[in-house]
Amino acid sequence: MPGECFHRPAVTAVTPGPGGAAERLLARLACPFCRRGTLREGMAGRLACRGCGREFPVLNGIPALVADEELGYGEVAPERWDAFLAMKSRAYGGCSVISRLYNHYHRYAARRRHLCGQAPLTVDVGFGIGEHAPFVSDEEKGAGSFIGIDLDRRKLEHYRTGHGEIPVLQASACRLPFADGSVDVVQLLAVLEHFPPERLGEVVAEAVRVLRTGGVMIACYPAEGGRLLRLSQRIMHAYLRRRTGFDLDGELVHHHQVPAVAVRQLLAGRRELRNVDSLFYPLGLKRIDFALFLNETYRRV
Ligand SMILES: [Zn+2]
Repeated sequence: MPGECFHRPAVTAVTPGPGGAAERLLARLACPFCRRGTLREGMAGRLACRGCGREFPVLNGIPALVADEELGYGEVAPERWDAFLAMKSRAYGGCSVISRLYNHYHRYAARRRHLCGQAPLTVDVGFGIGEHAPFVSDEEKGAGSFIGIDLDRRKLEHYRTGHGEIPVLQASACRLPFADGSVDVVQLLAVLEHFPPERLGEVVAEAVRVLRTGGVMIACYPAEGGRLLRLSQRIMHAYLRRRTGFDLDGELVHHHQVPAVAVRQLLAGRRELRNVDSLFYPLGLKRIDFALFLNETYRRV
């Protein structure tokens, strides 16, 4: 359940990645609370804000740039964790029809963020267990320019046990640890639909805040409220439940709270955003009823 601590992570002094990566990452961050102070390494491996003085622990190598009560946030109950991983592996692994459906928006995002260059500074909000990691280029990894953010530390730690190439941070979508206008690309891949309607505006406003002028927001979200999606979810979820024991419909992890129409309206209503393209997957018909997913790119003007 949210707010419950699933474990007590060890306090460690180092931030992620190979030589020099920790300093490089630190230089890109700002305090998520006062939003202006840069961060420095403080006492006992903690990070400290040069502005407001707030301190943040680094736990199991991952900076916890969140409020204390958010530290133990977890979307998946500990006893469901193995089934959750099996479900993720089924949904994203291999080259089945199901995995193609789940991977298409990752491919879309990987193409679109290069509107901002070969290795733009990209913040992936809702990085999870690294579903997007296979779509991050060697150039981006080498530059340390792709940063994963998630509120759920357990997912980030899972990613980090197998890989270390992409720096990850525990942070909230409503309080991103970056200064105003400092980021080239913000990715919101299958993220927006998870927030309650009254908080959705806050998440979008925060993404807009950190984007530089000319920067790009990539928003991919299911065609929630549409008939084709409803039908295919019934089939996909039944398949995943049968193969892995994980019930997407019954778990907090898949609580889709906002219909696609409302997400679109909100994005269209932001005067700082100009729509670059909208791809209705898979048929290209501009109707929510005939789509599974909407992949959209917006420019910050
Ligand atoms: Zn601060």
